[in-house]
Amino acid sequence: MIAGMTEEEIKEHHDTEKEIKQKVSELAKMIKESKHCVIHTGAGISTSAGIPDFRGPNGVWTCRDQNRKPPKRNYSKEGLRPTYCHMAIVELLNQGFIKHLVSQNTDGLHVRSGIPLEKISELHGNTHKEYCSKCGKEYFRLFRTRTANKVHDHQTGRKCDICGGMLLDSIINFGENLPQNALDRAFKESTKSDLCIVFGSSMRVSPAKSLPVIPVKQKKGKLVLVNYQKTPIDKHCTMIIHSATDLVMELLMNELDIKVPVWEDQLTDIVEEQEEKLEKELKDKPKEKSKDKLKDKPKEKSKDKLKDKSKDKPKEKSKEKSKEKSKDKPKDKSKDKLKDKPKDKLKEKPKEKEKK
Ligand SMILES: [Zn+2]
Repeated sequence: MIAGMTEEEIKEHHDTEKEIKQKVSELAKMIKESKHCVIHTGAGISTSAGIPDFRGPNGVWTCRDQNRKPPKRNYSKEGLRPTYCHMAIVELLNQGFIKHLVSQNTDGLHVRSGIPLEKISELHGNTHKEYCSKCGKEYFRLFRTRTANKVHDHQTGRKCDICGGMLLDSIINFGENLPQNALDRAFKESTKSDLCIVFGSSMRVSPAKSLPVIPVKQKKGKLVLVNYQKTPIDKHCTMIIHSATDLVMELLMNELDIKVPVWEDQLTDIVEEQEEKLEKELKDKPKEKSKDKLKDKPKEKSKDKLKDKSKDKPKEKSKEKSKEKSKDKPKDKSKDKLKDKPKDKLKEKPKEKEKK
C-alpha cells in the first residue's frame, strides 16, 4: 500500500489514441445535450503548470511513502500560469456549455484564469484568499497568503481593514472543516447537474469525491472522468478516459469548435475591484457604532453581537461565518432547501489532504 493506495490504484492507464478520440467525440455530444453541466477538477489539471499532484507515480504522497524526495514545484520564472485545460474551462463557461466549476485545487489558478467568483466553488480554499476571523470579510491578494508553519495555524499576520480582526489564510488542511459557502454551492450545483465531468482527480478526498456522483445516484445524469488512474468512483462513471487532461481538452475544443482564449491574469482586476469597494465601505462605515465596539472590547463581546444577529437561526458557527462572507454576493436561494437535507455526509472533513 502506498499513501493508502494499492499498486494497482497507483498505476497509470493510457487509452490508445483511437480510444481517446472516440471517447472525446462522445463526450462532446453529451456536453451539447446537457442542460446543466458541472466540471470538477483536481490536482491533475495543474501538473502541466508545474505543480506536482499527490497520488500520481511522482506525486507528493507517493514519493514520501517510497522514501523518495517529492518533486519540487517546477514553474517558469514568470510564475505559475494556468494550463490549457484551465483556459478551456473558462471558455466552456463563457459559451454556456458548462454552468459551474467545483475545484479541490488550492493553487488559485481557476480564479486567475478568469472564472467568475460566483461560478466556482473552491472546496479547499485559494492560496490567494484570506479572510477575517471576526467579520468574515474576504481579501484576495496578488501573493500567496499563507505564512503559518503549523498545519492548523492559519493566521497570516495581517489584519482586517474593516474591523481589525486577524486574517486567516483560506487553505483547508487535513482534518479541517470545509468552507460552508463553497460546499453548499457545490452541492447545489451538483444536484442540479445532468452531467458531471471530473478532470484530473483520483477522487480520494471526502466530501469532494461524493459530489460528482450525485446526478448518477439520482438517476438523472451522467458522470465522465478524465484521469490516468482508477478511482473509487469509477463504478459510477458513464465513461472513463484514461489520458492527460490537456490532451482531452484540446480534442474536445476541436469537437466543439471552441477557440481557447489567451491568458490574462484576472487576479489584478479582482484585487483592484476589491480595493475600490473597500474604500467605499470604509467611507460609509461611521454610521455604524459597532466598529469601535469590536475594536476595543474583548472577543466575547463581538460574539454576542453575532448572536444577536442570528437570534432566529439555529446557532451554527460555520453557517454564521459563511453568512457573513456572502453578504455581498447574490443570495443563495438553495440555502433553505439545503437546510432540510441531511448534510452530515457532506460535512465530513477531508479525509486525506496534504499537510502543508
Ligand atoms: Zn473583519
